[in-house]
Amino acid sequence: MTIFQKILDGKIPADMVWEDEKAVAFRDIEPKAPVHVLVIPRKPYRNIGEGATEDPELMGHLLWVCSQIAEQEGIAESGYRVITNKGDEGGQSVDHLHFHILGGRQLGWTPS
Ligand code: 5GP
Repeated sequence: MTIFQKILDGKIPADMVWEDEKAVAFRDIEPKAPVHVLVIPRKPYRNIGEGATEDPELMGHLLWVCSQIAEQEGIAESGYRVITNKGDEGGQSVDHLHFHILGGRQLGWTPS
């Protein structure tokens, strides 16, 4: 069981910023920017490849949630980044699909 499944099940706490029937979002425990929120589906797709193949409509919902959270966090105007990491070389460390929302400062480019 992943750490995100434990958060979904209420077994470990998280600083929740969004909950609906398909998705939840909470603040990253090691924030890389003033705003760093993770958006995850309730269904335990392991990554973008699995989620997009099995449930493409859900991907649209998750990205809509990202944009809503950016509004909620006050970074929609200043700008922000949405990232999903997939697999070892992508830097994925938790095998439950998630989108990072990063903002609140000028972000650098590109990932090293
Ligand atoms: P990944 O490296 O898979 O793209 O992103 C996983 C993210 O989950 C990391 O940014 C990491 O800081 C975050 N994370 C790992 N464990 C926990 C946790 O227990 N609670 C929260 N809120 N975030 C976590």
